[in-house]
Amino acid sequence: MENRRTHGLRVVLVPPPFQGHITPMLQLGSILHSRGFSITIAHTEFNPPCSCNHPEFFFLPLADNLSGYDTSFWNLLEVISVINVNCKAPLQQYLVQMMEKLEPHDKVCCIIYDTIMHFTDAVANHLNLPSIILRTTSASNVLAWDAIPRLQEGGYISLQESLANELVPELYPLRFKDLPYQKPSKVVLQFTADLNKIRSSAAIVWNTMDFLEHSSLSQLQQQYQIPNFSIGPMHKTAPISTTSLLKEDNSCLAWLDKQAPNTVIYMSLGSLAMVDKKELAEMAWGLANSDQPFLWVVRPGLVDGSEASNQFLELFQGFQERIRGRGLVVKWAPQKEVLAHSAVGGFLSHCGWNSTLESICEGVPMICRPCFSDQMVNARYLIHVWKVGLEMDPVLERGGIQRAIRSLMVEKEGEEMRQRAIDMGQKIKRCVQKGGSSYNSLNDLEEFILSWSS
Ligand code: UDP
Repeated sequence: MENRRTHGLRVVLVPPPFQGHITPMLQLGSILHSRGFSITIAHTEFNPPCSCNHPEFFFLPLADNLSGYDTSFWNLLEVISVINVNCKAPLQQYLVQMMEKLEPHDKVCCIIYDTIMHFTDAVANHLNLPSIILRTTSASNVLAWDAIPRLQEGGYISLQESLANELVPELYPLRFKDLPYQKPSKVVLQFTADLNKIRSSAAIVWNTMDFLEHSSLSQLQQQYQIPNFSIGPMHKTAPISTTSLLKEDNSCLAWLDKQAPNTVIYMSLGSLAMVDKKELAEMAWGLANSDQPFLWVVRPGLVDGSEASNQFLELFQGFQERIRGRGLVVKWAPQKEVLAHSAVGGFLSHCGWNSTLESICEGVPMICRPCFSDQMVNARYLIHVWKVGLEMDPVLERGGIQRAIRSLMVEKEGEEMRQRAIDMGQKIKRCVQKGGSSYNSLNDLEEFILSWSS
């Protein structure tokens, strides 16, 4: 049904080219579209979202001129910096053209950009358009990054290793080893300072919930002094199907249908984390020796960035015989559906923020094996504060993996954790229902955007 208040209003969204960031931006686009806004997705040519999955959006590819650059994980900061330089002129040019062609009753009312794409702020200013920042990590992670100057001044950063198990002053419950950085270089410091600036943006949207991160959100609200809208978990509000850059292997859902409730351990390290060949073998044997049914994502690039990582499994002699149909390995899973499936009883995860939200929302407890950055913070909260995550030895070794899986899937500790996760999932779902905090915040965001329409 047409919404007369939002009709003719276009919102331009600018995601960076990474799965964990594209997903929440497309979800936000889908939510705003369901409220009647027209949506333009301005994206890089590198790692573009699949327009065929979203006929409701208009897609605007930006010439990023990344050919010739190393776009691997190891060079991400340079890639981001190049994008911030190269995409500014094309975005500005396209938006000028678009605004010239609009019908008299149509209007671009604002730009919402992922904070990684901070060049957008200058474009918005140039075009006299208001802008809003989307943050796709937890609020607690942003506070941990914000603390760097203070920790440097106090001389803590250089002592980080020796203080590993100590609590970080004013960042409870984080210990030094839970910080998203270890001795950050100047480049990293500049990068994060850029991410945490609000520039001239009018508001910040968070994919989190007030009850989950009340204290961190309050601190950030005080610090930023502009409206903050916590509207998560967006995947529960967005009427959208897939947001995957890789093709999802849906056959695993039929396999899950054949498994008993709460018996399957799902294992995935997300879209960026990597392991070496030896660690892959340890993961394989940890799963095999756990004697639990499992679904394991071995995405192209998981093993040292090699595209052909599935082939490595064939090298593990005896693995297939040992598991005898008890486990399934896929290149990419429809993760949200997998976690919502009644057969799945646990998630061994790198604790990326999207994966964390998707898991706790479905009442699935986690085994936490963070790899880098905000994953360390998320894992600490899952284990220590929300108590729905099991700590695992960071060294990927078959015995540790096997023990963690048995503890979560068959022992009392896991059963209690599952009950807490189910309770938490119900609370989260209430946030997005009528009258819930995220539901109200989303209505406030809509009104805020509409205030620019007259
Ligand atoms: N994902 C998926 N299929 C997979 C593995 C991951 O659809 O086989 C999705 C997952 O649902 C999540 C995203 O990829 O939405 C990963 O984002 P997250 O923030 O968890 O981690 P990142 O990939 O950014 O490290």
